Amino acid sequence: MVELQRDGYQNGSRERYEVREHDVLIIGAGGAGLRAAVSATQRGLSVGIVTKSLLGKAHTVMAEGGMAAALGNVDPDDSWRQHFMDTMKSGKFINNWRMAEIHAKESPDRVYELEQWGALFNRTPEGKISQRPFGGHTYRRLAHVGDRTGLELIRTMQEKALATDAKVYMETTVTKLLKNNGRVVGALAYTRESGKFVHFKAKAVVMATGGWGRIFKVTSNSWEGTGDGVVLSYDAGADLVDMEMMQFHPTGMVWPPGVRGLLVTEGVRGEGGLLRNSEGKRYMENYDPQKMELSTRDVVARANYTEVQEGRGSEHGGVYLDITHLGYEGIMKKLPTMYEQFKNLADIDISREPMEVFPTVHYTMGGVKVDPETCESSVPGLFAAGEVAGGLHGANRLGGNSLSDLLVFGRRAGEGAAEYVQQSTHSTEIEEQELLTEIGRVLEPLEKRGDGESPYLIQQELQVAMMEHANLMRDGDSLQEGLGKILALKDRLPRVSVPGSRLFNPGWHTAQDVRYLVQISEIILRTALERKERRGAQWRLDYDGPDEELGGINFIVSKDEQGEVGIERREIPPMPEHLAKLVEEEKAKA
Ligand SMILES: Cc1cc2nc3c(=O)[nH]c(=O)nc-3n(C[C@H](O)[C@H](O)[C@H](O)COP(=O)(O)OP(=O)(O)OC[C@H]3O[C@@H](n4cnc5c(N)ncnc54)[C@H](O)[C@@H]3O)c2cc1C
Repeated sequence: MVELQRDGYQNGSRERYEVREHDVLIIGAGGAGLRAAVSATQRGLSVGIVTKSLLGKAHTVMAEGGMAAALGNVDPDDSWRQHFMDTMKSGKFINNWRMAEIHAKESPDRVYELEQWGALFNRTPEGKISQRPFGGHTYRRLAHVGDRTGLELIRTMQEKALATDAKVYMETTVTKLLKNNGRVVGALAYTRESGKFVHFKAKAVVMATGGWGRIFKVTSNSWEGTGDGVVLSYDAGADLVDMEMMQFHPTGMVWPPGVRGLLVTEGVRGEGGLLRNSEGKRYMENYDPQKMELSTRDVVARANYTEVQEGRGSEHGGVYLDITHLGYEGIMKKLPTMYEQFKNLADIDISREPMEVFPTVHYTMGGVKVDPETCESSVPGLFAAGEVAGGLHGANRLGGNSLSDLLVFGRRAGEGAAEYVQQSTHSTEIEEQELLTEIGRVLEPLEKRGDGESPYLIQQELQVAMMEHANLMRDGDSLQEGLGKILALKDRLPRVSVPGSRLFNPGWHTAQDVRYLVQISEIILRTALERKERRGAQWRLDYDGPDEELGGINFIVSKDEQGEVGIERREIPPMPEHLAKLVEEEKAKA
């Protein structure tokens, strides 16, 4: 690492800022960011990793059920071809087929690599990595560590990344990507503890900031899921794809109210958990009689929602999920976190009584559009991987496909960025005025005194509006009404003000977040209005089913010349013969 002005600050300007320089700057320390860091450092480059929380606290740590990879350990007939097919079917064929192919082919290597680096997976009796069933996967495919797979992944990746020369900047929030001659050449950030600014110079940036579930009130996502990276990339000119596709996980907690939305892992259904309504009926036979509880998430979420809407819900407005057949010992072996979660938070012993569950906002299929080989975005110098990137999952993600996505494409993004850096000689200088303008913008909420807008109020109103108008069942009139509400909130953003100083000031951080929340919500509502059909997570009640023509279209979003949301319908290129043949064979089986 080259550190400029190691202990000092640039003087002579209104605001002082520190300068740090790396070859590759990685924004985000979840699974994708850490995997990218390992790849880039292996190429001998200087790497900086910035995270707005603490190392080890990224969203990835919350992942429970497992990591999908066609290892064939439990079901020897599994293959990358079937994994590819399952991913495309679940994504309703608007996925980027090349990403789906790469993902299916490379996931097994990434799982074995993780094992070599120290991850301790559950084993089969013969000592192989065990694999559990999950919704929409033809075979038992999820490598797992009980229901704490994300914790093991992040622990292993963290140790691996820390063993490299990568420098980690914790509790540091990036607010803008910086460009020179059309290329991304770094970022401006501030430290959350002290409010001091840092100018990161870098020849390439990898965006790995995760998703944006926090635009909804009921979500499984942590406070970090505010979608900073997707808006930073959009502002820098990057194309986004499939932004209308938000995943509602079928099973979040419903009771007590303080934990509403907290995830109940799909591992529960993978281990044989049964869904029943207030009449005791296993209602999935009305929605997907073949796959029942192991249907894809979009189908099960709509089923749970419909049962409650039609008056067959549980005491607290959910449905019942029963895993009592495993007994206490079975649960403690396979789902210990679920046992503790319900015992500690709801005083429910799930080895004796069913859980109450309801859909919760969980995952963002859309995101920064990237080249499948290198993960480069449409802006030179900007790469993206993990949940912030779009394309792989199409209209609906299969459970377990995110953790393998992080490792497969995190690695490719790190290598893509390294290759780009090694082949370029461009300058990372930018006009100082640009930095000072951005610093001024970030400080604005603190400088406005008096009766400005509360960022918390805007956040709250936005989350309520998105629940009401962009939920898992949508219609044109309601989406339009929701867009009106979000645009009204957008008008209020310039008046946001917060009391106090920049030291340890959560209000100030929220003032930054709401800008992202508002922008993403506007994009989602606009693209959801454009996709006039029912497909995967986009379920328009004012249309009867899927539209054949739209089955070949991605909606690409970019900032237009007026700074407004531009939407383009882009045709999905035809699949090469070897993949098209797989689709034909699958159709013939049906
Ligand atoms: C409860 C739960 C359970 C899940 N279980 C599974 C599962 O079993 N299997 C599966 O495949 N998937 C699962 N998922 C999904 C999966 O965990 C996520 O999609 C994945 O972990 C996202 O990883 P990531 O590396 O893209 O980002 P994250 O892990 O979300 O990390 C994002 C990083 O970016 C940083 N960041 C964000 N904004 C900024 C900024 N402005 N400046 C600096 N840093 C920033 C954050 O601090 C963080 O370090 C689950 C998700 C949840 C919520």
